Amino acid sequence: MTERLYFDWNATAPLRAEARSAMSAALALTGNASSVHAEGRAVHRLMEEAREQVACLVGADTKNVLFTSGATEANMLALTPALEIAGRKEPRDRLFVSAIEHPSVRSGGRFAAEFVKELPVNSDGIVDVGALTDAIKRAARPMVSVMLANNETGIIQPISEIAEAVHAASGVLHVDAVQGAGRIVCDIAELGGDLVSISSHKLGGPQGAGALIRRADIHIAEPLIRGGGQERGQRAGTENVAAIAGFGAAAAAVKLADATRMSALRDRLEKGLKQATPQAVIFGANAPRLPNTTLFAVPGVKAETAIIAFDLNGIAVSSGSACSSGKVQTSHVLAAMGADPVLVRGGVRVSLGWTTTEADVDRFLEAWNVLARALLKERNGIAA
Ligand code: PMP
Repeated sequence: MTERLYFDWNATAPLRAEARSAMSAALALTGNASSVHAEGRAVHRLMEEAREQVACLVGADTKNVLFTSGATEANMLALTPALEIAGRKEPRDRLFVSAIEHPSVRSGGRFAAEFVKELPVNSDGIVDVGALTDAIKRAARPMVSVMLANNETGIIQPISEIAEAVHAASGVLHVDAVQGAGRIVCDIAELGGDLVSISSHKLGGPQGAGALIRRADIHIAEPLIRGGGQERGQRAGTENVAAIAGFGAAAAAVKLADATRMSALRDRLEKGLKQATPQAVIFGANAPRLPNTTLFAVPGVKAETAIIAFDLNGIAVSSGSACSSGKVQTSHVLAAMGADPVLVRGGVRVSLGWTTTEADVDRFLEAWNVLARALLKERNGIAA
């Protein structure tokens, strides 16, 4: 049997060797990072080393990195009205989230539903900064959440421009940088995000670890998990040190230079897709996008059918809108972009990573050439 091809890196990346060995080393230690004895201090050191590695990935100060169980938790921790800034209570009165955010942001975190407003995107999937500027004027102390890059389309948002607009309105900007970190430059100072979420498993670290990076003067007055004083009192509970060590090692192993190779592979893939199926639509083709992501649809071909067909042919891809139940749902991202309803149910996401080769892309295209013909025949009611 030929080896399977993994093209679902936006869902999760394989564990990097560096992360695996850092995790084994951490698992070999006994000690609670909060204990004062030598054993505790050794574990604490490991954790602080990881904190430095994660901070370095995003150009943050080590002390501003708070470890969480993943980006979902980091998003929930960040999205709260209860903020203190420079020691003063500055509760947020409204939360504005873009219409294409991950469900963990669209849920509104700890804001009551009536105080959460959605911000539109244009047909290229980019947040309308003019509409955002107008909308947030209606709040006294807004919080805004816009992602760095979309998990379905890979489309990149103009975060520094958004940050300027948000700050001009006395707002706080949260950036879900899960899909961008490690793939494109993600420097906190350059972006201007005040609270930034990242996830370990998209970088080649283990699942179940993440971080919220906060601006030095921002304090979350109501932590999501209360108890002990871990993570500067912002996230209680004994830390998952092995996962954190793996997260740190993965962050340190990131090579942004890979982006050029990746975008060449992505272009090869998209060229081949268009050759095989000229009617295929590649979403966000003209927008700035992550170098590793293609979301495409062929009119009349349902995502679910295509994904199953790929899977049976040894290829893992996903619907952009794959959700936790495993069912393919209509994509809220494509709907927000005003995509043709015929295409909204057809988005197939192909996402690449650091082990993807040209030969893998060619094998993918060979399979698509055969599958597309069968799927289109099926659509036309002819037995394939
Ligand atoms: N935000 C985005 C954009 C994501 O793609 C994901 C993961 N699918 C998350 C948040 C949640 O991250 P985690 O799996 O670490 O909870």
